[in-house]
Amino acid sequence: EWRAVKDDIRSAVGASNYKNWIEPLVLSSLSEGVAHIQVPNAFMGDYVGKTFGDQIIYHLNRKGAQVQRLSFAVADAVAQKPAGSAKPAVANGTPAAKPSGEIQPDHRFTFDTFVVGKPNELAHAAAKRVAEGGPVTFNPLFLYGGVGLGKTHLMHAIAHELSVRQPDLNVLYISADQFIYRFISALRDRKMMDFKQMFRSVDVLMVDDIQFLAGKESTQEEFFHTFNALVDQNKQLIISADRAPGELKDVSERIRSRLQCGLVVDLHPTDYELRLGILHAKQEMYRSIYPGVEVATGVLEFLAHRISSNVRILEGALTRLFAFASLVGREVTMELAQDCLSDILRSSDRKVTIEEIQRKVSEHYAIRLSDMLGPRRPRNLARPRQIAMWLCKNMTSRSLPEIGRKFGKRDHTTIMHGIRKIEELRQTDSQIADDLEMLQRALQE
Ligand code: ADP
Ligand code: MG
Repeated sequence: EWRAVKDDIRSAVGASNYKNWIEPLVLSSLSEGVAHIQVPNAFMGDYVGKTFGDQIIYHLNRKGAQVQRLSFAVADAVAQKPAGSAKPAVANGTPAAKPSGEIQPDHRFTFDTFVVGKPNELAHAAAKRVAEGGPVTFNPLFLYGGVGLGKTHLMHAIAHELSVRQPDLNVLYISADQFIYRFISALRDRKMMDFKQMFRSVDVLMVDDIQFLAGKESTQEEFFHTFNALVDQNKQLIISADRAPGELKDVSERIRSRLQCGLVVDLHPTDYELRLGILHAKQEMYRSIYPGVEVATGVLEFLAHRISSNVRILEGALTRLFAFASLVGREVTMELAQDCLSDILRSSDRKVTIEEIQRKVSEHYAIRLSDMLGPRRPRNLARPRQIAMWLCKNMTSRSLPEIGRKFGKRDHTTIMHGIRKIEELRQTDSQIADDLEMLQRALQE
């Protein structure tokens, strides 16, 4: 079976990816929606999970498995773990009095590895508070935000922290998908009593990605009762979704209003500082796994700049860079990043047009748009025009002649010259460097 699944994956990912990353995987067991896979080292598990995880799950499920999640374990008994998660030994594998079938917290997702910045500080503070395990002050804690902004990470961090502080506590983390799946299985197998018993005997219940309950009416009904039963017993609930409670579609009104009763906090899209902070933290972690790999200055800044969509993609990019650099024994330079990540860089760019750039730059320097475009070339306008050209070159896929035309130039050597000039200044003139950064950011929004 696993052989067949691997064959399917090979056709999907290509021979060389297959050989490097998929071939060495060993499926050791399937249980409770988790596929346990053995990998030769921790880095590989990390990389494979991020890069091919969805495909592996997809192909497993196509062959009839019911997999929601992958769990990687290092085949060697002495598992080498990423340094960021050198945690007290309690973290993994020694659950005390947990409900059967508990989904283990992922040891990579702790508060230690969570980088705090403006966009997530409230969510982080609320999660920390709950993780202290004191008296329940708000119930539920409702975390919401877009994909890859750290909801699941925070929930695992809470579970982990609680398991360290209060090993006897029954903490159950489950995705809404899993909740549905178990509910349906319980119905089918006539095990509703067990189901109710399990969910109602926990001390802390976390349900991740509750938006997946949409349209599942009987599951919602059961969820509602579970929810109320736990709140009545003053047990902490932590719920996440990709949107605010009031905006959940096809979720009953009474659930939506329940969800708003506690503390509702959102994770905002990342900003540059946060992304850079995350990259620095991840870099430290990878350094300890691959001591040989050097990262040239400016590369992390470049990534933080260019990959603004979500943290998962940002991390995936860094993982890929490290994997590649260590494979070929090279330093991670800007060129390597550009080559190796061209697909991510392309797709994460919001499509910016030459016109938008010209407009933005003229606003920024308070000059007339017509001066930017026309053949007239007053001296004080030269710099803004060159900046606009540089941005066009770096933020669009237009060719130099095309850019030239939009600046009213027949000859694109002027454009080339302008771009070179700015490139030079960017290294030497911090005012220009800041302006470029600011403009790029504004254009990405
Ligand atoms: P969500 O559940 O909101 O879709 P996740 O919690 O799965 O997002 O986060 C996606 C990835 O990004 C995870 O690997 C997580 O560790 C990482 N991540 C997100 N936010 C942060 C952060 N603030 N610090 C460190 N890692 C983060
Ligand atoms: Mg999630």
